[in-house]
Amino acid sequence: MSTDLDALLKLQEDDVIIHGLNVRLAEFEPRIRELDVRRQRSVDAVERSNAAVVGEEKKQAYLKDKIAEHKLLIERNQTQMDAVTNMKMATAAIAQMEAAKKIVAGEESDLLGLNRRLEEVRAVLNSQKAELEKVEAEQEAARTEVAGQRAEIDGELAVAREKRAKLAEAVPTSLLTKYDKIRSRKRVEAVFPMRDMSCGACDTAIPMQRRHVMNATGAIDLCEACGVLMYFPG
Ligand SMILES: [Zn+2]
Repeated sequence: MSTDLDALLKLQEDDVIIHGLNVRLAEFEPRIRELDVRRQRSVDAVERSNAAVVGEEKKQAYLKDKIAEHKLLIERNQTQMDAVTNMKMATAAIAQMEAAKKIVAGEESDLLGLNRRLEEVRAVLNSQKAELEKVEAEQEAARTEVAGQRAEIDGELAVAREKRAKLAEAVPTSLLTKYDKIRSRKRVEAVFPMRDMSCGACDTAIPMQRRHVMNATGAIDLCEACGVLMYFPG
């Protein structure tokens, strides 16, 4: 076996290992996505309720201000009442005060309704927060497990990649370029031994003359049919 071929096959062996590790890493993705989706649903619900609570609290504050303002108005009317000197003015002041009291009564009833609604949305928010905590607690073990397994594979990948860099140094540049180009076309393996008289990857028959040359020189040749690198085994 020529040293170039030997170096190339060793490189490919490592690349297949790297590919296998990457496949294993990718297999975690659906599981992580599933965990993320479930958690996100819970987070979204909390955010929606939180926004509802904030909105209701704003309305509540506004209504409280209004009530205080209108009560002050009633007090002022009361003071004016004390100062009226004739019947006509008194009637007008009383009417004004009654109107203001009616407004305040309406607002206070609105406030009661609002307080009830606020209590409801707060209760929903609290139960959703508890649900989120539950989801996160449930996922903790699964996430830790996945993270541990991924870290392990990442470690193996780092070793394999380091090894690959060293192995690639032993392969002539032009051959390495060809090999990398073939693998970049989503091929896991780029170098194949010939099978009988055919390409080991696509089974296309190779002319006898070429086979003889390859056998005699140990040349690594491109298959014109499928584009992989071939070598004469043994
Ligand atoms: Zn082929």
